[in-house]
Amino acid sequence: MMAEERQQPNLLVTGTPGTGKTSLCSLLADATGLRHINVGELVKDKRLYDGWDPNLECYILDEDLVCDELEETMSKGGNIVDYHSCEFFPERWFDAIIVLQTDNSVLYERLSNRGYTAEKLQNNIECEIFQVLLEEARESYSHDIIKTLPSNTIEDMSSNVELLKNWVQSRMAN
Ligand code: ADP
Ligand code: MN
Repeated sequence: MMAEERQQPNLLVTGTPGTGKTSLCSLLADATGLRHINVGELVKDKRLYDGWDPNLECYILDEDLVCDELEETMSKGGNIVDYHSCEFFPERWFDAIIVLQTDNSVLYERLSNRGYTAEKLQNNIECEIFQVLLEEARESYSHDIIKTLPSNTIEDMSSNVELLKNWVQSRMAN
C-alpha cells in the first residue's frame, strides 16, 4: 500500500541504544493514539530470532520473520516503530524516520546505569560517535523524510513529543 493510501502515518524512531527511543515512542503513542511497536520486545515475545549475538549480547533477529509479522499492521498505518536499526524494513512502510541523538557523556551515563559490560558500552558509544544509525537511515530512506532530534534532557523529550504530535496530527488532518 502506498503512503498516500494510509489514513494515519507510520513513523520509525531509531537511534543508538539508550538515546531514548522507547521513552519517546511510549509518550508519543499516549499523545496521539498511534500504536507503539517495540521491535526488540516483539522479537523476544514471538521468537522472531535465529540466534544470539554473544558480542553485542542481543538476539539476531530474523529479518524476514519480523517483516512478515508486521506487514499487515504497517499497511494499515498508525504505527510508531521503535528499533535500533532500519535498513531491513521496506522503504514504503514509513512516512517519517526519526533519529535520536545523545551527547556521549550523557549516553555513557545512561548505558552504565543499565549495567552494560565495558565492551557493549564501548560499542554503543562508538555507534553514536560515528552516527551509524543516521548513516543507515540515509542509505535506506529518502533524505527528506529523515529528521534528527536531540535527546539529552527531559526538556528535549517534551519538545520532541510535542513536535511529533503536531506533525502526526497535521498528517491526519490531510
Ligand atoms: P532506548 O529505547 O533508545 O534504548 P530508553 O527510552 O530506554 O532508550 O531510555 C534510556 C534511559 O534514558 C531511560 O532511563 C530513560 O528514562 C532515559 N532517557 C531517555 N530519553 C531521555 C531524555 N531525553 N532526557 C533524559 N533522560 C532520558
Ligand atoms: Mn528501547
